[in-house]
Amino acid sequence: MTYPVARTRDEALLYLDLHPCECGSMETDWEKSTITDAGGLAARYGGACAECGAEREYTFALPNRETFPKGWPTYGGAEPSQLLDAGEWLLVSDRVASNVPPDAENAGHALSMARAAVEEVLKFIPEDQERVPDHGFWTERGVEFREVEPGRFRRERLEVVRDTYLDLHRELNRAPRPDQSPAPDQDASQDRGQDAPQDKRQGEDAPQDKRQDEEG
Ligand SMILES: [Zn+2]
Repeated sequence: MTYPVARTRDEALLYLDLHPCECGSMETDWEKSTITDAGGLAARYGGACAECGAEREYTFALPNRETFPKGWPTYGGAEPSQLLDAGEWLLVSDRVASNVPPDAENAGHALSMARAAVEEVLKFIPEDQERVPDHGFWTERGVEFREVEPGRFRRERLEVVRDTYLDLHRELNRAPRPDQSPAPDQDASQDRGQDAPQDKRQGEDAPQDKRQDEEG
């Protein structure tokens, strides 16, 4: 059996969010395990749906070359995704960017995600081309999105969108935060948003498995 490759844990978790339980809920406390399959090692995510209790299980192949996380989110290396197509990445980006929470920390988190998702769309464009090629779309919702707004998959336009999210994130970090409590929750704030442009942390400082899910 051939499994789709999940380049990183962040990418696997995003894919799982995009594939809810049959009851419609996305809430599952995923447990990751490494299994041995005929083809080699694979990553298995299993858990019970928080809503209906159904047992859910997804298995992903490991990438040929491991991508070390550099801040959250790290969806993968330079190679394009095999889990989400270009249309889905842009849908994710649009959805997150159109719903940026008011508080600075979560806003930064949303902008990081929106920016990273646009970068994933750009990875589908070969160096000598100016738009995402046809084979960058293989899901129903991805293909549909491109049919409605084909111009959004041009390199130039994607780069503008990406830079806009970067700028917004920078502004956010510069803005005063009068309503922040004097003793912010350091543990929580360190898990997210450390990929701000001025923050030159090395990837090994931020193992992706430390990411806490905000469910509950
Ligand atoms: Zn369910």
